[in-house]
Amino acid sequence: MAIQKIESHVAAQWFAGNSEGSKLVNPTTEEVVATASTDGIDYAAALEFARKEGGAALRKLTFAQRGELLQQMSDALQAERENLIESAIANGGCTRGDAKFDVDGAIGVLAYYARSGSKMGDVRVLPDGDGLKLSRSPRFWGQHVWLPRRGVAVLINAFNFPAWGFAEKAACAILGGMPVVTKPATATALTSYLCTKAIVDAAGLPAGVYSFIGGRPGDMLDHLGPQDLLSFTGSAATGQTLRRTESVIQNSVPVNVEADSLNASVLGSDVEVGSDAWDLFIKEVTREMTQKTGQKCTAVRRIIVPQDRVDDVIEALGEGLDDIQIGNPTLREARMGPLASKAQLRDVKAGLAQLLEDTDVVYGDPEAAIEGPGIEAGKGYFHPKLLLKARDAHGAKYVHNLEVFGPMATICAYGGEAEEASTLVNKGMGGLVASVYTDSNDFAETMMMESSAFHGRLYFGSGKILDHAMGPGLVLPQCVHGGPGRAGGGEELGGMRGVEHFMQRTAIQGARGMVQSITGTRESK
Ligand code: NAP
Repeated sequence: MAIQKIESHVAAQWFAGNSEGSKLVNPTTEEVVATASTDGIDYAAALEFARKEGGAALRKLTFAQRGELLQQMSDALQAERENLIESAIANGGCTRGDAKFDVDGAIGVLAYYARSGSKMGDVRVLPDGDGLKLSRSPRFWGQHVWLPRRGVAVLINAFNFPAWGFAEKAACAILGGMPVVTKPATATALTSYLCTKAIVDAAGLPAGVYSFIGGRPGDMLDHLGPQDLLSFTGSAATGQTLRRTESVIQNSVPVNVEADSLNASVLGSDVEVGSDAWDLFIKEVTREMTQKTGQKCTAVRRIIVPQDRVDDVIEALGEGLDDIQIGNPTLREARMGPLASKAQLRDVKAGLAQLLEDTDVVYGDPEAAIEGPGIEAGKGYFHPKLLLKARDAHGAKYVHNLEVFGPMATICAYGGEAEEASTLVNKGMGGLVASVYTDSNDFAETMMMESSAFHGRLYFGSGKILDHAMGPGLVLPQCVHGGPGRAGGGEELGGMRGVEHFMQRTAIQGARGMVQSITGTRESK
């Protein structure tokens, strides 16, 4: 593959950058696949163009018409699907399955919100709840409505989902009537760039609706204003830095943060070895540890297991992990590729060293030389699959505090009561998703009552959904994605909930007839 030069798309123009910029590498071969420079972008002008041109164009459109734009974006990505998958293999170290998870996720989430727009129809005002009688007389009336914010939505994404990451944010923003400026993580930006090319070339969006920063963000965030919005996915540390940005503080810019998460998976004490719920647990935990080489925000990091099932779990998960062939992700037999970058490999090794202060290795060898089909000796950012076991599940220092973004998880033993399992789960101090495998409604109810406040989503795997479940790692647009505390305190998706983040809720008060007329809420007779 020839080295590609990633360009940005701002103020409806392509911009190549004034310097050589960052080098993007194939993590399997360590060869340079692309360069990315944003030097010279006038960020103030780029944001203003999006606000003025893109925002005005979107506000003229109804929800159904904005939905059509999203469908055109989805179709544009679908037409380039094979190229996008190849780029994610080359620049992200993804297996074909991992790449499809990202690219098809992007195509799907845009199509989902396209359908939502179509169902909402030819209206531009979104009512929030029923009309309200505000005085004794029914003449004085109130109605809450959602209307688009007048600024630009700046969307900053993590390295692990270069396609779905921007698409899930952009779908909600554009349906809500806000233009977007998306910025992928530089290390894996090739796929996002190719998505942008497809969208610019084929989706027919009005100028300024969709802009793209292909690399470092320069001083972009200094130009955020009071009608703008910042939506970020990445590490907790970067999220905290962005929240402290002067322009954000001065202008009360809403900031949505999707950050770290030490997702736990609990095996209920009612689940017998070999039962359907057991099989589901083993299958899904194995997948959630290794899909995208463990570089998924929803990956399972902690496995909470009744003390008397620990040995069985180690044996069954070990067999599952044995089946995950590490290899060069261009080969179909490879089921797990390398980590996405050299920096990522360094961070994983450093994190593992800390986890090992609390744990013993019960599967795999952290020092093993990586071998597999198509792997050139000593090349690439590969890492072994590891299963660890906490020596003291409750007292561990790092297990509940440190997200190591690689193919590993730690088993924590508990006595068998749901209350104790919840206590361990909640030690993660806020997560995206916790999964619980049980056929017992009592166990499930206790987990829900005790752990909901710490999570954006709880997933209950049971024998009844063995053939229907999609696993805790799949983020569906119908349900909210995000979590409190360590997970950043953000919330995305969840059907229209995710769209409302990009709109302002306003209470409209006045004469009933006028309020109902201008908000489009007059009851039909
Ligand atoms: P990261 O290093 O925090 O970077 C995330 C994004 O922030 C990148 O686009 C990065 O750009 C940008 N960035 C960094 N410093 C910035 C600054 N000062 N101003 C503006 N932008 C800045 O995170 P990562 O390594 O890409 O991603 C891994 C993390 O993401 C993990 O901790 C994972 O848990 C989290 N994650 C969370 C979710 C979720 O939905 N909750 C999903 C996926 C990943 P550059 O690349 O150009 O530096």
